[in-house]
Amino acid sequence: MQVNIVWLKRDIRWRDQEALHAAIETGKPLIIIYFFEPELIANHDAAPRHWRFVYQSIADLNRTIFNQTGFEKAVQMAYCDVLTGFEIISQRYAISQVYSYQESGNALSYRRDKIMKKWFSDKNIEWIEMQTNGVQRGRKNRQDWSLQFDERMAEPEVFPDLKKARFIALPNQLLETLQGNSLEKEIVSSHENFQPGGEKWAWRYLNSFLNNRVKNYSKGISKPEESRSSCSRLSPYLAWGNISMRSLFQEMKRNYATIPNKRALSNWRSRLYWHCHFIQKFEMESRYEFENINRAFDLLPHKKNDNHIQAWQSGQTGFPLVDACMRCVVATGYLNFRMRAMVVSFLTHNLLQPWQSGASFLAKQFLDYEPGIHFPQFQMQAGTTGTNTLRIYNVVKQAEEHDPEAVFIKKWVPELEKLPAHFAIKPWEMTPLEQVMYGFSYGKDYPLRIVDHEETARTAKVNWAKIMKTEIAKSEAKRILHTHVHLSDKRAHRSKSDIELKTKLRNDA
Ligand SMILES: Cc1cc2nc3c(=O)[nH]c(=O)nc-3n(C[C@H](O)[C@H](O)[C@H](O)COP(=O)(O)OP(=O)(O)OC[C@H]3O[C@@H](n4cnc5c(N)ncnc54)[C@H](O)[C@@H]3O)c2cc1C
Repeated sequence: MQVNIVWLKRDIRWRDQEALHAAIETGKPLIIIYFFEPELIANHDAAPRHWRFVYQSIADLNRTIFNQTGFEKAVQMAYCDVLTGFEIISQRYAISQVYSYQESGNALSYRRDKIMKKWFSDKNIEWIEMQTNGVQRGRKNRQDWSLQFDERMAEPEVFPDLKKARFIALPNQLLETLQGNSLEKEIVSSHENFQPGGEKWAWRYLNSFLNNRVKNYSKGISKPEESRSSCSRLSPYLAWGNISMRSLFQEMKRNYATIPNKRALSNWRSRLYWHCHFIQKFEMESRYEFENINRAFDLLPHKKNDNHIQAWQSGQTGFPLVDACMRCVVATGYLNFRMRAMVVSFLTHNLLQPWQSGASFLAKQFLDYEPGIHFPQFQMQAGTTGTNTLRIYNVVKQAEEHDPEAVFIKKWVPELEKLPAHFAIKPWEMTPLEQVMYGFSYGKDYPLRIVDHEETARTAKVNWAKIMKTEIAKSEAKRILHTHVHLSDKRAHRSKSDIELKTKLRNDA
């Protein structure tokens, strides 16, 4: 039997799913498949929380298909590598076309795609890949990138006509071969600490944000506690493709009149643009995953200290806001932007550790892990791009400004709960008498600071400035700007927020 296959990746949704739409329109019998790939599951950047989110997203898509067609479990789940999976399927079916989305993924998925491209070509199978959001394949620079981004966002969404689809139920025996070992319990059971996966939830989060939560967006964005409800929290849904960027832009436009805070909306809108702006960098230079993007920073003097890295990972550095953030992200998979930037700054500029020593750990924690944002952002915060000024967050000032009552700190570092806010932020300022008064023993109930953060920040600045003076740092910076930024981009001149965006883009590079 001749069939077409929709190979799902980070695009698990029905609405605006171009691969599904195109495959249905061919009228051929159709298999939809997702591969839980053992190599990807075991990779340096992956954790069960990610696959749980995927698993829930598939269940949601299956429900949508069932509700519209009565067809059960249309999305097949395979637990094997993609090549093996396609070989097994091709022994039973004649595959005409495979539809999927372009993926700006990690080194492993890139290598797998190259293997599959060759295999499809050898077997005369046409592989049709759709453009993912605003990320453009095959670019060498950013000439007119944002104009094309805008055009893409303005194209109409597609609504696959599921009733027309000729889904195939794979025979049990074939499914059993594809499924090998079953998925871990942690993946197939829900967990109340994490946002649930699925298109239904993506739209719920979007609607509640546009109808109400957006009004506090700008006010709460930097605050570790408030941001948890005032930011959209759409990142995992975008990262795993439960909603398309185009749907977001168009929903925003449709609801514009009733959205409560237009200024905050414009602020939010520029971040949607950044989403693709960052992934575009990674699409064009995937070295970001492992290597300093500005090669001059290979010369940075780093002395790896496993105890410091361990203290950072487990929230035991003796700096309450850092510890609260690290414990929180391990438990819930989320931190707002500023706190992410701050914990990276702390690792690289206060603990003086290479960014590579923390990038995989945080990738595993973020439910919204998106390689194309994660690695470029990580390097930007670590200062290894050499195109923007070095930003070292003072972790004590951040706490005083963004968690002045220590609400967030006390929630995640309960050892400090009974202290007044100023001591919960700076427990080292307590006198022995005050420690007795509050029944708290500094150094026993909560660790001493593992570094002098002001001194190490000074060292980091000196090290960084030395490297920035080298010819290689300058020529690399020029190359990076030339490849990843186009300052005369027309879009950057349109409005005040876009002029800010232009400056931001220059810094972000
Ligand atoms: C070291 C580091 C690692 C990061 N890793 C990731 C990651 O793996 N995946 C990820 O989605 N974001 C990442 N970010 C960016 C940002 O922190 C998150 O996108 C944001 O906090 C998600 O929360 P939200 O959906 O409520 O965002 P909102 O503020 O509501 O923004 C809406 C959407 O815009 C995009 N966005 C927002 N801020 C940024 C930004 N600074 N850069 C790029 N896109 C942005 C996201 O898709 C987000 O969902 C990282 C930031 C840093 C500093």
